[in-house]
Amino acid sequence: MFSRSAGTVHAVQAVDGVSFDLAAGETLGLVGESGCGKSTTGKAILRPTEPTAGRITLEGVDITRLDRRAMHPHRRRLQVIFQDPYASLNPRMTAGAIVGEPLANYGIGTRGERNDGVAQLFGRVGLRRDQMRKYPHEFSGGQRQRLGIARALAVEPKVIVCDEPVSALDVSVQAQVINLLMDLQSEFGLSYLFIAHDLAVVEHISHRVAVMYLGRIVEICSREALFARALHPYTEALLSAVPVPDPEPAARRARIILKGDVPSPVNPPAGCRFHTRCPYVFDRCKVESPVLREVEPAHQVACHLR
Ligand code: SF4
Repeated sequence: MFSRSAGTVHAVQAVDGVSFDLAAGETLGLVGESGCGKSTTGKAILRPTEPTAGRITLEGVDITRLDRRAMHPHRRRLQVIFQDPYASLNPRMTAGAIVGEPLANYGIGTRGERNDGVAQLFGRVGLRRDQMRKYPHEFSGGQRQRLGIARALAVEPKVIVCDEPVSALDVSVQAQVINLLMDLQSEFGLSYLFIAHDLAVVEHISHRVAVMYLGRIVEICSREALFARALHPYTEALLSAVPVPDPEPAARRARIILKGDVPSPVNPPAGCRFHTRCPYVFDRCKVESPVLREVEPAHQVACHLR
């Protein structure tokens, strides 16, 4: 796992000073508007994007600078589930071959054993064994996401980066896929970095939530703390946009409309990066960048007002 003391991700162009840890069996939700650096952070962990600085540790091993060969045994511990599984499924391969491919790549088992393993995985993610012979286009969106999950699970990962895994699905199918992910987490002790722009989805699955704005984490705390008493003005605005059932506190129902567009992460504003849109901005915000610090137990915020 990303150790509690040393799991870090830093500085990948659009991401700056991002640091978090992820315990075994834990889900960390990573939320923010598109372009805020959520996916870049996920890629830095998976290492198709090399971080230019910082450190990534997995179960106590620093994997940041390992070359391809040295990374190979660790690579299987880190898997990814994409928003659009169709784009990542080879249309000319059968579903069974797609799910079994990682096993073959790692030389795990004989052909027969791999076939049995794939059949079990199909059952585990709610697909029928006879569907192993079908091709990706013969599956629905939700079924294709189940295929992507089965493929990620095949090599017994420890950490799965879930990059907007349900954003493209209908709401009813979203719930099924989220529930499947939660069941698999309890069964296999998986850790998820769950990247999403939808706070309602994050609320359901996450143990902790990190809110990103322009490449930085501005607030990180337990799910309960975030939804009960968010302390960063940007988090407040995000939460105000989530539809909630009545009765709810009036403050949460009053939608906060942020002015202006998200500035470019390549040339972010000086001082607090949120100052161009913050309803509470004051002079200090324009010149001094607030440090992410613990303002309540296990609740970190980057804001001069806290
Ligand atoms: Fe707003 Fe200032 Fe806090 Fe930034 S530091 S979030 S601009 S009040």
